[in-house]
Amino acid sequence: ELMVVYEKVGRLKSAFAVAKELMNLQKEMQEKKSDFNLLRLQSKMEIQQKDREIAWQKEMVQQKEEHNESLELLNNELKNFVGMASHDMKEPARTIKAYSGILLKKIDADTKEYKYMEFINSASERMGILITDLLEYAHAGKYSKPPSWVCLEKNCLLALNNMRGRIKETGAKIEMGKLPAVLAHTTPIIQLFQNIMSNGIKYGRTDIIPEIKVYEVEDYECHHIVIEDNGMGIPENKWETIFEPFKRLHDSSYEKGSGIGLATCKKILGQYHGDIYVRSEIGKGSQFHILFPFEILEEE
Ligand code: ADP
Repeated sequence: ELMVVYEKVGRLKSAFAVAKELMNLQKEMQEKKSDFNLLRLQSKMEIQQKDREIAWQKEMVQQKEEHNESLELLNNELKNFVGMASHDMKEPARTIKAYSGILLKKIDADTKEYKYMEFINSASERMGILITDLLEYAHAGKYSKPPSWVCLEKNCLLALNNMRGRIKETGAKIEMGKLPAVLAHTTPIIQLFQNIMSNGIKYGRTDIIPEIKVYEVEDYECHHIVIEDNGMGIPENKWETIFEPFKRLHDSSYEKGSGIGLATCKKILGQYHGDIYVRSEIGKGSQFHILFPFEILEEE
């Protein structure tokens, strides 16, 4: 009997063990299931987050595109406005200059009125220059035709021809070396040479005759042209700023100018993927370096 009891206890024990194991297994399975559910939830959340990020990025790109479009529109409007405003202002400036000139001839030179009229006359002249330069700046980069081969030598000569009055007046000496041909447009190239060479005369030293040299230097990366003068020079801390619009080192009483000439040059060169910079020594002169790329580039 004792044996039977033992046997029964033994069976019960193993039945308990099996039941315990089963319970453990069930628990483990439940844990695994909840882990799995958690993982599933997690990856679902991650996917949702990714979707949100993609949607957000798409929205950002779209916003940027819209922003760029409206900026371009605004930019074009502004350019047209500057162009139109300067064109319309030209006439009144010319009229003021003409009539103040007539009055100057009629007023006694010793009077206050004569002095005031002189102010009006020279202010209207400055205004005329400013308007012309503004117009040039606004139009720089607006070309109806694609760039074609432009001979720099020929265009430098054309620029010199436009400056002949000033060259004769000052007795300036000009030297021109061999220059390459580049892909560009004639009008802005003449303007570029003329702006820099006339500055060479304009900001010359009073004790010597202005001398301008135009030559190409060896450069394996681009066409590298230098326009050198023996003028008053530019301090190093102004080598960059003189290319910004309206930045002048010399005040209006010193020489007539608007401070837009070099900014226009920079804009022109930017259009051809080129560049411009200056190196100079005070009291000795300046070298304006003009760079044109070798590659045949499409206009944007
Ligand atoms: P502007 O001559 O109408 O004032 P620019 O944009 O052509 O305007 O030149 C900006 C300024 O840079 C000038 O006012 C002048 O002070 C200085 N500058 C330009 N070229 C020279 C030069 N060759 N030598 C000395 N200073 C110069």
